Amino acid sequence: MALDIWMFMGKIDAFEKEGADAVLDRLQGVGINTLVLGDLIFDAQPAYPFTPGLYTGCETSPPAMPPENAPRFEILREAVRKAKERGFGIYLHDWGQNAPGCINNPEKLRYGPSRTRDVVRSLPQVDGFILDGPEWGYEIAPAHRSNLFRCDCDCCRDRATAWGYDFDALLGARDRLKSRLQNLGHLPKGRRERGLMDGLDFLIDDPNLFDWFRFKTDSIEHYVRTFAETARQLHPSRAMACGPRLPAFAPLTGYNFRRLSEIVDFQCPKLYFWQHGVDGLKGTLYRYAETLCAWNPGLTGSEALDRVRELFALWVPGTSGLDDLDDPLPPEFFQTVVTAEIAKMRERIGDIARIRPWMGLHHGGVRMGSNELEQLLNVIAAGGLVTFIYWHYSDMAGSDWEVVKKTTGQ
Ligand SMILES: [Zn+2]
Repeated sequence: MALDIWMFMGKIDAFEKEGADAVLDRLQGVGINTLVLGDLIFDAQPAYPFTPGLYTGCETSPPAMPPENAPRFEILREAVRKAKERGFGIYLHDWGQNAPGCINNPEKLRYGPSRTRDVVRSLPQVDGFILDGPEWGYEIAPAHRSNLFRCDCDCCRDRATAWGYDFDALLGARDRLKSRLQNLGHLPKGRRERGLMDGLDFLIDDPNLFDWFRFKTDSIEHYVRTFAETARQLHPSRAMACGPRLPAFAPLTGYNFRRLSEIVDFQCPKLYFWQHGVDGLKGTLYRYAETLCAWNPGLTGSEALDRVRELFALWVPGTSGLDDLDDPLPPEFFQTVVTAEIAKMRERIGDIARIRPWMGLHHGGVRMGSNELEQLLNVIAAGGLVTFIYWHYSDMAGSDWEVVKKTTGQ
C-alpha cells in the first residue's frame, strides 16, 4: 500500500517564494495532502499577531508581530485557506508555545495553552498540533544540550515533592548511574547480549533510579495532557500529538508510548539516523562512545560502541571504529535495527494509524543520500506503517522527490 506522507513546511516563507498554488500543486502532484507548518516565524519574529486578553494569567507576554510581518502573515493565511479548500489537512508543529524554563515550570502550562488558544484565532483551519518532544535529555556528553543528567531545578524539586518523590534520593540515583558509566574499566572485555531482565536487574539494584525515570515520565505526561485538553476544549476534533525519540531512546527521555497513547491522538517518533549534527542516531552513538572513552581511559572506540549496543540494542553493522559512522548506512542496518525499532513502535502503540514518525535525512551533520532515503521508506512500508512526516519541504533534492513519488504510487 502507498504510504500517506505528510509534508513538514519548516520554512513557511516557501509560500511567498514559490507561491501557495505552486507549492500545493507540487505536493498534490506526488500525492501529498497534509501540511505540517513549522515554526510560525518570519526572520525570528512571530508570524501571527497575539490577542492580549488571552494571557492574563501568565507571567510571560508573547512577542508582538512586527508591522513588516503583517503582509507576510496575510500570505500565510491565504496559503492555509487555499490548502484547506483543496482538502489538505493542516497541523502546526511549533506555534511559539514555549515559555522559557524546564517543563516542570508551572508558567509553561499557563503560557503554552494560552498560545495554543491564540493561534487558532489567526489560523482557524488548523486540524491539530504536533508538539516537538517534549522530552528530557538523553545524551551523556557533558556539554550536550540534551543532557540526560538534568534537571535539578526548584520547579522539579517542588513538583517531585508534591507527587510524593524524595527528590534528593532521585538525584542520588542519578549520580550513581553517572558514576557507573564513568567506571566501566572493571568489565570483562568483549560484547555480551543483554535483554529485558538485565534492565530489571539494574532497577532492582537501585529502586530510586526507577523512581527518577518514573518522575520524568510523570512530568512529560502532565505537560502533554494539559496541551491535549486545551486542544480538545478548542474543538473536540482538534488533535494533539507529540514527538518522541526512537523507542530505544524514548524511556531515557521520559516517554512510555503505551501510556502516552491514553493521552495523545497520535505519536511521531523520530526516524533520524544521520551522523553528527542534531539528534541523528549515528551522532548519538558516536557521542556516547566518545564520552565513554573519555571517562574510561583505555577503552577503545570499538569497545565503547559495544557498550552502547548493550545499552540500547542499537548498532551499525560493519562498523569497527567511530570514523566508520561517517559512511552511508548499510542495507543490513535498515533490515535489522530500523525494522526492530518500527516493530517496537507497533508493539507499544498498537494502532498503526496513531504512529506517524518524523523522517529526515539530516539536521546538520552528514546528510543521508536519496539511496538511504529509498531504503528507509521501503522499511517503513515493510514494517507495516502507513504514514510518516517528511522533514522538510525546503530541504529536498530532486532525487528525493523522485523517491517520494515512487513511495506514494504517483
Ligand atoms: Zn527542572
